Order: sequence, then structure tokens, then C-alpha cells
Amino acid sequence: MKRVKFVIIGSGVSGLLTANKLLQAGESDFLILEGRDRIGGRVFTNNGIDIGATWFQGHHVYLSQLLKELNIASFNQYSAGKSVLVYNSMAPAHYFKTDSSAPSAQRIVGGSTSLINVLAEKVKDKINYNCKVKQLTEKEDTIVVKTNTNHFIASKVISTIPPKLATALLYEPELPEKLKKVMDRTHTWMSNAIKVGISFKTPFWREKDLSGTVIGQIGPVIELYDHSNANNTEFSLMGFVNEGLRGTSSEKRKSRILSYLETYLGEEIREYTNYIEKDWSKDRCTSCQHLNSVYMSPEYGNKVFNTTYFNNKLLFSGTETSAHYGGYLEGAVYSGLQAAKIIMKETL
Ligand SMILES: Cc1cc2nc3c(=O)[nH]c(=O)nc-3n(C[C@H](O)[C@H](O)[C@H](O)COP(=O)(O)OP(=O)(O)OC[C@H]3O[C@@H](n4cnc5c(N)ncnc54)[C@H](O)[C@@H]3O)c2cc1C
Repeated sequence: MKRVKFVIIGSGVSGLLTANKLLQAGESDFLILEGRDRIGGRVFTNNGIDIGATWFQGHHVYLSQLLKELNIASFNQYSAGKSVLVYNSMAPAHYFKTDSSAPSAQRIVGGSTSLINVLAEKVKDKINYNCKVKQLTEKEDTIVVKTNTNHFIASKVISTIPPKLATALLYEPELPEKLKKVMDRTHTWMSNAIKVGISFKTPFWREKDLSGTVIGQIGPVIELYDHSNANNTEFSLMGFVNEGLRGTSSEKRKSRILSYLETYLGEEIREYTNYIEKDWSKDRCTSCQHLNSVYMSPEYGNKVFNTTYFNNKLLFSGTETSAHYGGYLEGAVYSGLQAAKIIMKETL
């Protein structure tokens, strides 16, 4: 049983940023417990495709500042050319052009995982992989953290597990009723999303003056965008699959997606070099079971998360706890900074 001052649960943006802030303040007596075999949580770049978080905007000030501090570059989402709007399967395709003077959504060079990799650099020795936290027990002035593999004893615990998932842990003593209710109705942002990424040797759509954007609620893909890399050496399309296809077999879903995109972008869609999908609702480190319908609550940043529990030893963090852009990367950054401040103010 290992004893440390701080246990941080989760190696997503929020947990890794808190860890970095502790280290910057001279505190190295901490561990990060991660349930998956990888870091990043809902940030996940696979084969050049951001299969999790992708975009941010200029008003995401804490994230923009962090990227600047870490020397991580960003670039505009590609949107030149005609975009397709599909609102009626019987009607011909409708095209529109994006206003090039409007502020563009930004992407991170190298994929969103670049942020995770840089944040992990200094704290990689602290990360315990495949270490799923099951139970938190208050024992005198410590918390015993029980995982699937081990026990840890910490003076303080910062949990970045999405609140709805965190309700599945065992707590001794039990958490207050009000907190449990809020946690349970706090939808985990994007936990219902199914993403698809398709890579190509050439950006064939650009050659036809198409932006790669295809929008429409009626097809198997509800949003699709150009997802080529920053220096235009790798070409791909990435988007969101219609949730109505969640129960369909992966072969059928792929076949419907390709036929649909062939209609609007051309037969070259079949000449892909790589095809990936991820249904986040099936990932038990992000989503709960039985996701039949999604209840979106306005509970992000509820004030129950401003308080510590277990007599000042347990803090809930992560994007859903953030009153500032909760759900987004920006909320994850904000909560990571706040958690470090709260914990350090009270301990160091
Ligand atoms: C498909 C998709 C698209 C998105 N697109 C965007 C976007 O374009 N722009 C944007 O701003 N945001 C987007 N988001 C949201 C963004 O990804 C999140 O806001 C952000 O990554 C959350 O970071 P976090 O650290 O708070 O939580 P998470 O990334 O969820 O981190 C929580 C960590 O806890 C771990 N964990 C869970 N349970 C346990 C346990 N019991 N024990 C140990 N570890 C555990 C998880 O494995 C994970 O590493 C998207 C998310 C998804 C899924």
C-alpha cells in the first residue's frame, strides 16, 4: 500500500494540468491513477485523427494561454470551397460557402494529443496505467484509494472522473445526497458521440472546390469536416455519425456512411487508406452503461463542486465541474487550474 500526499484520479487535460501545477509549485509527492492503458481521456488522436476533442475558439482564453505557454501551435479549420447542406434526401445537394472573414475554429498542430503529450512529459513517472479507482474510504486524516489492482493512501484526492461516472464508485462515508443527485444528472459531455475518421492519399474534395464539410441530420453522418494536418501532407475527413446507427453492425454502418458520402463528395471516398470509428458511449472510462437517451442538464459547474468533501480531503474536478465553459477543453483547463489552486492553498 503506497502512501502519497496527493492522488489525482484521471490523466485527461484536467488531471495532467493539476499535476503540472503541483510540480511547478515544488510539490512532487503525488500519483496519477488512470483507468485506461493510455493518457488523454476524451482527448485521443488516432492515426492523425482527433477521435475525441478537436476544436477550440478564440474566447477559450485559458486554453489559448496554456497552448501559448507550452509553445503548442494551432491552425484554422479548413473551410475553403463549397460546403454541402443535406436537409432532404429527395432534394439535390444544397451548397453554401463559409464567411472567410468570420473567426475560424482552431485545431491543434499534431492533433489535440499534442497538448496531452506535452502536459505528460514532466509527470510521466507519476502515472499508473490500467488503474481503475473503485472505492474511496475516509480513514482518519487520509483517504484510502482502492483500485482494481492496488490500494493507495493519500492526504488528499482530486477526482477528474466525469461526475456521472464517479457516482459508480463506493464512498465511505457516503457522499451527501445533494452532491450525489447533481453528479448523477450531470451529463458527460460528448459521451454519446460516435466519431468517424477517413484518410486518403489526396484531398480529392479540395480538387473539386469542396470544403469537405457535409452537414445534415437525416444522413448517417450528421457533420463532416476536412481533417487534414496543418502542413497539408496527410489528408482526411472526420465527423460525427448519426446516433440512430449506434445499434447497427459496424460493417453496415461503414457501408451506409461510405454510400452517403459518395453521393455528396464523389466515388473517390472509396479509395480511403484508413477508416476508424469510435462510439464513446461504449467506453466505460467516459460513459455509463444503458445510454438509451441523453438528458442534457445545465448542471456544469454546479456549486456543489466548489466545496471539498471528506473533511477537506476530496475534491471533484474535471470539465463538468467547471462553471467556465464546462464540457469543453476550456472547462477542463479551467478546472485543472482551479483544483491545483484549491489544493495548494489548503496544503502547501
Ligand atoms: C467525441 C468528442 C468530441 C469532443 N469535441 C470537443 C471539441 O471539439 N472541443 C472541445 O473543447 N471539447 C470537445 N470535447 C470535450 C473534451 O474532450 C473534454 O472537455 C475534455 O477532454 C475533458 O477533460 P477532463 O480531464 O475533464 O476529462 P476526461 O478527459 O474525461 O478525463 C478523465 C480521466 O479519468 C479517467 N477515469 C475515468 N474513470 C476512472 C476510474 N474509475 N479510475 C481511474 N481513472 C478513471 C479516464 O480514463 C480519463 O483519462 C469532445 C469530447 C468527445 C468525447
